[in-house]
Amino acid sequence: MPHTLFISDLHLSPERPHINETFFRFLRDTAQRADTLHVLGDLFENWVGDDDLADPFNASIADALRELSRSGVALTFMKGNRDVLAGDAFAARCGAALIDDPTLVDLYGTRTLLMHGDTLCTDDVEYQKFRVTARNPAFQQRFLSQPIAERKKQMLDMRMKSEQHKQGQAAEIMDVAPATVEKVLREFDYPRLIHGHTHRPARHVHTVDAHRCERWVLNDWYQRGGFLRCNAAGCKAELL
Ligand code: MN
Repeated sequence: MPHTLFISDLHLSPERPHINETFFRFLRDTAQRADTLHVLGDLFENWVGDDDLADPFNASIADALRELSRSGVALTFMKGNRDVLAGDAFAARCGAALIDDPTLVDLYGTRTLLMHGDTLCTDDVEYQKFRVTARNPAFQQRFLSQPIAERKKQMLDMRMKSEQHKQGQAAEIMDVAPATVEKVLREFDYPRLIHGHTHRPARHVHTVDAHRCERWVLNDWYQRGGFLRCNAAGCKAELL
C-alpha cells in the first residue's frame, strides 16, 4: 500500500553509534519501501553550517539519505532548531527538497500540516526570543563567518545555556501551548497536524470550532528510533 513516513528529532551525532546504525538500517529496510520520507527537523544534534559536510560523520548521514532519494523515494527536509543552519548545499547532497515550516501537504486525500513544532511552544518566552535571533540572517552570517572549530565551541556553549534554561522551567512550559495549536489549526482550515520537537510522542485529537483535528507528535531517537507511517487509511506510530 502506498505510504509516507515521517521522522524528526533523531539528534544524530558521532557519540551515539547505536542510534546511527538504527538510522542506516531504517533507511535501507523501511524507508526504501515508502513513497516519501519527510524529515521534520533536528536530524542532527548540532549543525554548524553546510561547509561542515566535509566531516566524515556528517557526510555519511547525507550520503545515506542520497542513496534513498536516488532509489526513487521522495525526500524532504525541514529545519529544526538544532539544524537551523542546514541549507541548500546539505539538501542538494541528500537529494532532498527543503520545505518550509509550516508546510501543508495532501496526504492521500487528507490535508496535513507539517511543522517542526518549536513554534507551537509559545509559553517558553525565552526560547521564542532565542529562536528569532537564531533565524536572523545577519546573526547567521556572523556565526558562519567564523572557523568551524570556533562555531562548534560556541554552539556547545549555547547548548549548555539552553539545558540550564530547560532545567529551570516547568515541564508544561516546554510543551505546545494548546491555544497556539488551536490558532494554527484554525488558520490552516482544520488540517491534520504532524510535528516533533517536544519529545512527547502521542496522538491527540483537538476539537476546534466543532472540527476534529488529529495531531501526531513524533518520537525522538534518544532512547530508540521510531517513525510515523501514513497511508490512505490513516497514520500509525511504529518503533524500531
Ligand atoms: Mn527541536
